[in-house]
Amino acid sequence: MNGPNRLRLDGAALVENWRTLARLSGRAACGAAVKADGYGLGADAVVTRLADAGCRDFFVATWAEAASLDRSDISVSVLHGVRDADMPMVHQLAARPVLSTTAQVQRWRTAGAGLCHVMVDTGMNRLGIAPEDIAAGLLAGLPVDVLMSHLASAEEQSAPINGQQRATLASIAERSGARRVSLANSAGIALGPDFAFDLTRPGVALYGAVPSEGLAGLIRPVVTIEAEVLQRRRVPAGGRVGYNLTWTAQRDSDVAVVNLGYADGYRRAFSNRGTAFVGNVAVPVIGRVSMDLTALDVTGVDIAEGEWVAFDPDLPRASAASDVSQYELLTGLGRRFDRVWR
Ligand SMILES: *Cc1c(COP(=O)(O)O)cnc(C)c1O
Repeated sequence: MNGPNRLRLDGAALVENWRTLARLSGRAACGAAVKADGYGLGADAVVTRLADAGCRDFFVATWAEAASLDRSDISVSVLHGVRDADMPMVHQLAARPVLSTTAQVQRWRTAGAGLCHVMVDTGMNRLGIAPEDIAAGLLAGLPVDVLMSHLASAEEQSAPINGQQRATLASIAERSGARRVSLANSAGIALGPDFAFDLTRPGVALYGAVPSEGLAGLIRPVVTIEAEVLQRRRVPAGGRVGYNLTWTAQRDSDVAVVNLGYADGYRRAFSNRGTAFVGNVAVPVIGRVSMDLTALDVTGVDIAEGEWVAFDPDLPRASAASDVSQYELLTGLGRRFDRVWR
């Protein structure tokens, strides 16, 4: 540890984002989606901080992810349910499956039918049990903690499907016998108190993304990419930079080449479009982002070999510049970074 690039991770902002989402969740408890290694930040570090702040319900995709979070003071739910191959793990861990198919329900019954969660499909047609199967008694006698569904278009605040999914879930909840009901992800929380039910499941907004207008101005950036300058060089007017020479110096220029590339998750889509900062001075990415290196125009800026630059931590802005979703910018963050929390 002490590599030439790092993620500066703001633990206070993470906790503040969770508290904001908890407040917007009203009387509902606020959980946290920490799948995909905490959206790229590091699930263990995220869970430690959010559990300290009072978060109790955590969501992962797979049993391997659940195994890395095995601690007794939190509830871990496995969103992809339980396959045959998962059964050995299921018996070793305290985590509970979110049963999402009729076959999973049967498998769970055969295994002794302990406390579980259930995902019902209310119109997204991704994962989930059909409402008719629940109406027909599929869950009879099953101890269900959380009955949940997932919104297809939560970031579109006026999409009619939102209200339709809410109403479908509410009607199933009445006859399911579940202890708790859950629908909203980050953007779903911004749809208002009707969507919160008993438990909300934000992910991306915890980490600084702003997935919907309703969260604008409420979420703080959490992740800043920082990279060391490997070389500062002079490029005379007319000189060109990087693979395929896509940038041409209009005047005598100074170029800083930094230790960051698409292999780190700094996407090639930032070529000629990304922004870094030296102190408060914005310096543009010039030329192609390559696998391990990125060039910046630092003409007139005081920055030398061995010094560090910070890339734009504003996810909505970085997403607009690159046309890459905020979700992908986070979950693509690479393994080579030192992850430094403060
Ligand atoms: C990933 C996920 C979430 C969190 O969604 P965000 O949009 O990141 O807030 C919530 N619920 C389910 C079922 C998910 O798969």
